[in-house]
Amino acid sequence: MSRIVQKFGGTSVKDPEHIGKVAEIVAETYSQNKQVVVVVSAMGHGTDELIDLALKVDENPEPRELDVLLATGEQVSIAMLSIALRSMGLKARSFTGPQAGILTDETHGFARIKTVHPSRIESSLRRGEIPVVAGFQGMNGNSELTTLGRGGSDTTAVALAAALKAECCDIYTDVDAVYTTDPRTVESARKLGVISYEEMLALANSGAQVLNARSVELAMNNSVPIRLRSTFAPENTGTLVTTKDIAPEHNVCGVACDASRVWVRIAISQSFNAQESVGDFADNFSKQEDAVQHLLSTLISLGIDKEIISLKRANGINASWLEFHCEKRILRDVQSVLAGSTNQLPDLDYRIDTGLALVSLVGAGIDRDYLISDNLAQVLRKNAIPILMQTQQVLRSSILIPGAFKEQAVKLVHEVFCSTTAEAYSKLSKLELEAEKLALARAEEATGSTSAGLMFVAELGAMTDPIVSESNELDYHVETEARR
Ligand code: ADP
Ligand code: ASP
Ligand code: MG
Repeated sequence: MSRIVQKFGGTSVKDPEHIGKVAEIVAETYSQNKQVVVVVSAMGHGTDELIDLALKVDENPEPRELDVLLATGEQVSIAMLSIALRSMGLKARSFTGPQAGILTDETHGFARIKTVHPSRIESSLRRGEIPVVAGFQGMNGNSELTTLGRGGSDTTAVALAAALKAECCDIYTDVDAVYTTDPRTVESARKLGVISYEEMLALANSGAQVLNARSVELAMNNSVPIRLRSTFAPENTGTLVTTKDIAPEHNVCGVACDASRVWVRIAISQSFNAQESVGDFADNFSKQEDAVQHLLSTLISLGIDKEIISLKRANGINASWLEFHCEKRILRDVQSVLAGSTNQLPDLDYRIDTGLALVSLVGAGIDRDYLISDNLAQVLRKNAIPILMQTQQVLRSSILIPGAFKEQAVKLVHEVFCSTTAEAYSKLSKLELEAEKLALARAEEATGSTSAGLMFVAELGAMTDPIVSESNELDYHVETEARR
């Protein structure tokens, strides 16, 4: 008998009527002679409300107690849905995360699932029941309740699907597919029928809340197909998240925005002591090097991607500084690392700005076509959107901007790279790449030297200016063709 995991998010179970609708979807799947395991989130904005409640008592609540509090949200949902299913004559049984065998590491508030022991769920399925499991929670090695971080019910669902060898993990939510960007921000966002784990992971890591990044990572590592679909239009097939060989490779697959980014700028040493002897300078410099290395590795251990830490040095004067952007979740940790570094780095000074937006363009083409990143920056620059930092990670190119510009930036970037002319853009950038390869080959042929060829490419890149405010890719297309 085939087995499926179905997960329903907060809006899908926001009130008794919605819970009734979810029960119908579950009952319909069960009637097709399938074993169904259900995972649910807290009702509506239940988790936000519980957080607000805790903050009324203490602005920095104890993480262990906060987890105990937050875990109650999902417990309400499992009981409610089980009651609804039982009222329809179905044998449903609720399970908390620990009862379902979800075992995590020790981290309160952002625990990682280490393993799943689903024996109670297996027994429940053997009895012909529909197990209803609380998402977002587990138990650590000390038998303490933990929560998995915001949006973590997706991860519970995928972890269970992997452990139970389910054929698929269906994530039901309030949109009917993964789109090229949040359809609530950009009306012209396009549905993606199939997307690879890699591209979906890059989108999720860039702030596309539609799927939790850890759930995608887990699905990729365990080859669990995810289907993203709507609770309100369950007949739609939605988006399949799957392996590269099934999913088409998009040059650019979407735009995501993380609207609560933190920007950290650290001056490590700003002073130039003209009286310092060469020996003292060398000694101080190597001590500082060690301290900077230590600072960098501590920041990386907090989860800041080393790819996006920019370390700058001004040669000749004893000045160096670094900057990066990070999630708000780790802000306190970053602050305490910096406060603790002043012993080794006495000149250290820093500034932290919150509420910045990181707009990311995602797609397999980003890694192979550097012009996409250049063009991304140009789109914003030409529209007078200040660029604070530009960073590049696997499959994504991101620009940090002041939060006030986020909607405008997402709309512009989407319009240029992902709208209905996106296919045109993909074609264009491929054409352009071809043109460059040809140029490089010709230059190498003519000069017999690789570096001259590279210079030629750089020139060609500098000439390339496909982005205009009123983006007209077709004009550009003609221009590219003409240049070839
Ligand atoms: P749930 O409570 O069901 O887990 P979420 O709010 O976590 O739902 O995720 C669904 C939301 O994700 C949508 O309502 C939509 O606004 C947002 N979203 C962001 N980016 C995208 C995208 N690329 N495609 C679809 N939805 C997106
Ligand atoms: N209820 C949790 C949250 O709001 C987990 C989830 O919805 O996935 O973040
Ligand atoms: Mg979610």
